[in-house]
Amino acid sequence: MQLYKDQTLKVTNSLTGKKEVFNPVNEGHIGMYVCGPTVYSNVHLGNCRTFMSFDMIFRYFKHLGYKVRYVRNITDAGHLVDDAEEGEDKIAKKARLEQIEPMEVVQRYTVDFHNILEQFNFLPPSIEPTATGHIIEQLEIIKEILKKGFAYEVNGSVYFDVKKFNESFDYGKLSGRKLEDMIANTRELTAQSDKKSPQDFALWKKAEPQHIMRWPSPWGDGFPGWHLECTAMSTKYLGETFDIHGGGMDLKFPHHECEIAQAEASNGNSPVNYWLHANMLTMNGKKMAKSTGNNILPGEIFSGNNAILSKPFIPSVVRFFMMQAHYTSILDLSNDALLASEKGFNRLIDALDNMSGLETGVNTDFNVADWKQKCYDAMNDDFNTPILIANLFEAVKHINLIKEGKENITLSDKELLQQTMNSFVFDVLGLENKNDGHQDSDKLQGVVELLIQLRNDARGNKDFATSDKIRDQLLAMGIQLKDGKEGTTFSIS
Ligand code: AMP
Ligand code: ZN
Repeated sequence: MQLYKDQTLKVTNSLTGKKEVFNPVNEGHIGMYVCGPTVYSNVHLGNCRTFMSFDMIFRYFKHLGYKVRYVRNITDAGHLVDDAEEGEDKIAKKARLEQIEPMEVVQRYTVDFHNILEQFNFLPPSIEPTATGHIIEQLEIIKEILKKGFAYEVNGSVYFDVKKFNESFDYGKLSGRKLEDMIANTRELTAQSDKKSPQDFALWKKAEPQHIMRWPSPWGDGFPGWHLECTAMSTKYLGETFDIHGGGMDLKFPHHECEIAQAEASNGNSPVNYWLHANMLTMNGKKMAKSTGNNILPGEIFSGNNAILSKPFIPSVVRFFMMQAHYTSILDLSNDALLASEKGFNRLIDALDNMSGLETGVNTDFNVADWKQKCYDAMNDDFNTPILIANLFEAVKHINLIKEGKENITLSDKELLQQTMNSFVFDVLGLENKNDGHQDSDKLQGVVELLIQLRNDARGNKDFATSDKIRDQLLAMGIQLKDGKEGTTFSIS
């Protein structure tokens, strides 16, 4: 069904800073590119938030009946430590430290990435290309940019000439910067630098003898610059101008700005009609990041094996927590926030489970058709999942009243309600029913909490044989109890 014909979707376009009506290049089809992970370490929950925002967007497009080609790459070369222009490749560094092949690093963390995303119930993208699989395409783009005069070669490296580009195009239009200000605010280049200007960025870097990730090129052995891979892969699979490009806010500059420059310099076209940027997940008020150590891994949340949460949380609760915030807002992770989300999630799923048993009558006490359109209106307003969830809870209230016999519903309204609730909760938000067998960890948690209580009682009675037996036997089953100031918590391995 082509629902999109009846709905007007608006998206916040970072390129214009405005909320705009979304119109794809080809009616009924959407091309969407999202920058994927650099696979040199385990994905942390912050990374997952950005990918989850775009999973929700992908899901809503599909729900509306669009045919979507969703490309999310794997960065397996070219991304240097600290996102810098000089220095070591993140993957090569990890390979050197662990004394393994770079491709072993890539394989290990790509598998981890897929495993975590599967637990979070992500839909796989249509294409998941890798940077190393597209070296030839990247070389072709460099040749084209050189031919057009927007790049120069020095000592086996090729740099993008930002000043030259800015004479014909607008460098800084995505991030709202002016090249003159950037020049005024940057320090002079060091004597060793090959670049003509500090704003210039590498399209191709000469590989020093110790650099293990290297490919032959017309300029000697080297490796591609980080920004180039996304231009190569998005152009190859989605064309010179496509509908949506996404990523985290932190990629807007320089990564996405450089992607625009590369595409415009090589083929003259503005590559993307709508740039969408997802906001950051914070912890203790600071951006969650691998480099600062301020991060938590999804697996540590699912198992409870971490220092900040009082108990384990299932993936759908974490997903629900993320969906309660708008994708363009900052979201802070805390124990209290997750506990509140867990309560809300359980209430929602319980109401869904109760829907089929509702008795029907000759009239309905709430307008289901109007309510349904309110759900679409929320999603059509730049994917406003918090408003959608507020609407879902409006329905939960009615479901509970009908169950208690205080309100009525007709059979056709009940069917419409069931169908709409299921579509939004499972298809669009991507939540899973915790009561569906494999997610019955709630019951397990209840049992462990009961055992903790019994152990506390035993200790209170100085019956240490029993309290130790409970602790040891749980441990043998992979459930570790941890006694702290706030009481006893547990983790499941
Ligand atoms: P990386 O693997 O570093 O290339 O990052 C993968 C994705 O995670 C990018 O789109 C980043 O913008 C995003 N990201 C990194 N840190 C966070 C965070 N704390 N919250 C949300 N997204 C993030
Ligand atoms: Zn990218």
